[in-house]
Amino acid sequence: MIVDDQKHREADLLARIEKIQHVLRHKARPEGYILLKKDVIIPQLERALEKVREGSHGECDDCPEAIPERRLKASPGAIRCLSCQTKFEKSRAVS
Ligand SMILES: [Zn+2]
Repeated sequence: MIVDDQKHREADLLARIEKIQHVLRHKARPEGYILLKKDVIIPQLERALEKVREGSHGECDDCPEAIPERRLKASPGAIRCLSCQTKFEKSRAVS
């Protein structure tokens, strides 16, 4: 069951990455959208995929907290708990 779950998560994350890459290759999108996907969303999904493979998916990358299952269900690419994610987003926000 655990292995199935891992395979399912891997497949789900790969599908999400492919879908975004497809949109970026074939559709015109505002520059801000493209940059966000390329610089933030895809690396984050790739990191989440790596975490699934190394068995740390569901653990925050920045602190020892676990990422609540509810949050992982809502955003499978989550690699940080909510408070670390908020800090991260504030730190990279440009005005
Ligand atoms: Zn955290």
